[in-house]
Amino acid sequence: MPLSSTSRIAHGLVWSLALVPLIFFIAGLSAGDFASTATILNMLGRLTGVLGVAFLLLSAALSARVPGVDQPFGGLTKLWHTHHRMGAASLFLLMLHPLLLAFSAAGYSQQAAISTLFPAFSNTAAWMGWTALILMMIFLAPSFAFFGPPQYERWKHIHALAGPAVIFALIHTFMASRTMPGMADTVIWSIFALLAVGAVSWRLLFSQRIGRLDYTVKHVEPVTDGVVELTLEPQDKPLEYEAGNFVYLTPFDKHLDAGDREEHPYTLSSSPLEPNLRIAIKSLGDASRAIQSIDPGTKVTVEGPYGRFFPAGGRVESPELWVAGGIGITPFLARMRHIQALQSGGDIVMIYAVQDESRALYADEIRELALQIPGFVLVMHYFYHEGPVSAEFLHRHCPDLGHREIYICGPLPLNELIKQHAHHAGVTHNHIHSEEFELL
Ligand SMILES: Cc1cc2nc3c(=O)[nH]c(=O)nc-3n(C[C@H](O)[C@H](O)[C@H](O)COP(=O)(O)OP(=O)(O)OC[C@H]3O[C@@H](n4cnc5c(N)ncnc54)[C@H](O)[C@@H]3O)c2cc1C
Repeated sequence: MPLSSTSRIAHGLVWSLALVPLIFFIAGLSAGDFASTATILNMLGRLTGVLGVAFLLLSAALSARVPGVDQPFGGLTKLWHTHHRMGAASLFLLMLHPLLLAFSAAGYSQQAAISTLFPAFSNTAAWMGWTALILMMIFLAPSFAFFGPPQYERWKHIHALAGPAVIFALIHTFMASRTMPGMADTVIWSIFALLAVGAVSWRLLFSQRIGRLDYTVKHVEPVTDGVVELTLEPQDKPLEYEAGNFVYLTPFDKHLDAGDREEHPYTLSSSPLEPNLRIAIKSLGDASRAIQSIDPGTKVTVEGPYGRFFPAGGRVESPELWVAGGIGITPFLARMRHIQALQSGGDIVMIYAVQDESRALYADEIRELALQIPGFVLVMHYFYHEGPVSAEFLHRHCPDLGHREIYICGPLPLNELIKQHAHHAGVTHNHIHSEEFELL
């Protein structure tokens, strides 16, 4: 089955799982729930609560980042799209939840409506719910584009409020619960709670101790101005990975200007057959700038591997078109190094899009590898000369693009442009694979 079909099924299953409490909730409804506007509003208020909590708990479960779990979902970046959508849906539904209950109460008395929105101090269940909702508003707000691009480390610290929000939402649900008939209430919410609490505990407590491998920086090679390649030597068990995978890299060096003990995602640019890991890092912010001058001998940890860009194994089974932009060359470099090490080949056209000649990272090595890999065609695209990659450019250099698997990794506008050209050329969604260097 094609990679993207598996991925669609996996994402579909998670959304379907979130609907399980809703199905039980609907099964438990009676004629009384539809007797008047007030009872209907009350039923809708409870329904938004059930679905909102289900989305919140599953969204938390998806944040675990256990290596390998992202594979059926098409990689971590894709899995986190679902995590974000579920989180946003959960916030929307849980904001509606008290409003609908208050409107329903207004059908009985104004006082009832007010005390739904401003519950008595003794109403612990309601206060737990409000605390969860307020925490959600705080930790989810920076994720919305409306508030501008978030500063990652600040975003991450605020996002840690997800843990207490999940706990308060669960207490509210167990205390206030009259959502599903019979034992279903306890059983279903307990399973969801286990998934969410297990995932958050793994992420915050255990992954840092048992989920990371120790490495040492062996070499630091400048690639060009503002880009270095680190070679990392395993201290114990080496990481097993596929070309195109990425890891979270954490340096331990208090002399770094920024980023000491901070984890950042980077694609492995080495072939999986090499004994050491190689990572090319472009200076794009504080931590990636500071790491340009990291010293050999520095201890680092890597967590992963994550991502599922290329098919496993390294062999090229069908014709491929690769489009790389800027630092997005890293997964392709890993695959070229791997194919060359396997002494394999394949029908591959690679378009490497850069601003100008001086910005082409690894240009010499890539030209050399392209010559060594049978069937490999390298096409350079210079923005200053050609402007954005046009459909005409693609068709000129790859006339049969409609019959190829297409792999894209570069800045978002390039990814979107190539997808558009590919769709116009009749390539279906299943045959287009893209990696984004953006997780938020
Ligand atoms: C899957 C993936 C693969 C990547 N591969 C490479 C690579 O091979 N080479 C390379 O140079 N860069 C790569 N990046 C980008 C790299 O992670 C960021 O440039 C780096 O984290 C920036 O951190 P900073 O503190 O220097 O900059 P900041 O100014 O703090 O961050 C700039 C932007 O980078 C993103 N970012 C920062 N920290 C993190 C984090 N811990 N987790 C997720 N996103 C973060 C945020 O979107 C942020 O807005 C990759 C990113 C992803 C998601």
